[in-house]
Amino acid sequence: MTMNAPAPQTDTSVLACHECDLLQYAPAVAGQVVCCCRCGCQLRHGSGCRPSTSLALVLAGLLVFVLANVFPVIGLEAGGTRTATTLLGTAWQLSQQQMQPVALLVLLTGVLMPGLELLCLLYLLLPLSLGRAPRGFAHVMRLVRILHPWGMVEVFLLGVLVSLVKLAHMAEVHPGIGLWSFFALILLLAGNASRFDAGQLWERYQTCRAIH
Ligand SMILES: [Zn+2]
Repeated sequence: MTMNAPAPQTDTSVLACHECDLLQYAPAVAGQVVCCCRCGCQLRHGSGCRPSTSLALVLAGLLVFVLANVFPVIGLEAGGTRTATTLLGTAWQLSQQQMQPVALLVLLTGVLMPGLELLCLLYLLLPLSLGRAPRGFAHVMRLVRILHPWGMVEVFLLGVLVSLVKLAHMAEVHPGIGLWSFFALILLLAGNASRFDAGQLWERYQTCRAIH
């Protein structure tokens, strides 16, 4: 559905295009794709995604996030000595080797930002799926928007894979549970991002707020 005339009607909501910033009236029709009348950018998904579906993805994401950080990402075996490290352990080792900026970057983009984003989404989606309006909804939505570009788990994993190939010539490399968990986390985060529709969440929030 492409909006031809940005004129107010009954059962409409005001949407701002996130590409060209045009404010326009969108018809409140469930399950329809809504596109910007100026640049054609998709403003509303037509999937009719329910909060409970996104909540399931976020809960699964939190579970594998914990596994990814508790279990070793890779193990190395050379000369009869075997070592294994987690992502947090890697950040710690980097800081011990006078590479604090890199350690901080690994910690922020690989652990803190994705973890905080998942917790914020849980805070929003759990009450909404139960028909309740979470407190500070607007602030947490803004926080999710800020955090999302900083979660770079896939970039980290690409770096790990390159390192694995290089280290394979020097030592025996054992991928750990943490590595597989990071793969699962990337898939779950991508699945959630493709379904995430801020407009639908806002509508759901307003409905829950009106009821209670
Ligand atoms: Zn636009």
